[in-house]
Amino acid sequence: MRVITAKYSGFCPGVMQAEKKIFREHGRHADEHIYILGYLIHNQTYIDYLSRYSVITVSDTAQVPEGSVVVVRTHGLQRQTEEELRKKFRVLDLTCPKVKKIQLLIRDYALKGFFVLITGKKDHPEVQGLVSYAEGSDVIEKHADINRFAAGFDASPPQKIFVVSQTTGDPALFTETVRIVGEKAASAGIRLESFNSICSITDMREREALKLQKEVDVTFVIGDRISSNATKLYKILAAGGQSAVFFVNSREEALAAAASERSRSGGLRWKTAQIVSSSSTPAFLEQEIAGCLEEIR
Ligand code: SF4
Repeated sequence: MRVITAKYSGFCPGVMQAEKKIFREHGRHADEHIYILGYLIHNQTYIDYLSRYSVITVSDTAQVPEGSVVVVRTHGLQRQTEEELRKKFRVLDLTCPKVKKIQLLIRDYALKGFFVLITGKKDHPEVQGLVSYAEGSDVIEKHADINRFAAGFDASPPQKIFVVSQTTGDPALFTETVRIVGEKAASAGIRLESFNSICSITDMREREALKLQKEVDVTFVIGDRISSNATKLYKILAAGGQSAVFFVNSREEALAAAASERSRSGGLRWKTAQIVSSSSTPAFLEQEIAGCLEEIR
């Protein structure tokens, strides 16, 4: 079978850089463990792979010996938590430069007296981190929150407002927040500034995969079901309806999909397959699955 890999498939630049820095650190201190607080990416195969290089995923610093190297993940940490970490451990800061830029913007705007509005998910670690960089802030998770915030204006209007988004936030929610709060602010004579901080890589990958889907017989979305960005990618392509779509996370799952199609159709009619991996799928897994698909006759 001919296999085509979608453009922008696989690790995003932030995760690629994090991987590079972890292995550089491992190369410098091969006899030491490196600890990550929580999953670096949501892919169990990759977490197991890291552990073979003494890169250990833990849920709590209580499991980490003092003085060890502790990784700050790509979506960053709460400011106070990071400061506490630095007192006891050697911190390897792998916050994605795009996230770091928003953290610093929020800090600067907050220092200039702006009230910070963040569009995104309240319980997402990136948003929890962003909130910690401002004295006064609010999180807009859904449309109803925009109206709630705008309604609060009359009681206690902020002096100035700065709006940003979680990097993986919903573009429509950000645009609507800027528009609705902006109109309200303008009518009250309040200054509003915004910065569109949404990372476009996920969007670009989805668009390219949807385009390529029209040229292939089958699409394999490669990722772990625990990953929200892999699940979203699968749902978008499945809804695209242009080719058969399978969600796989191993060579065995890809082979099982081909076997089920063979028995369903009395033979395999697929000539060309697209593979597309989420931001949290390692390249070695993608290559392994591509290799096994290419061998299918
Ligand atoms: S998705 Fe974008 S912002 Fe998030 S880690 Fe990757 S490159 Fe950075």
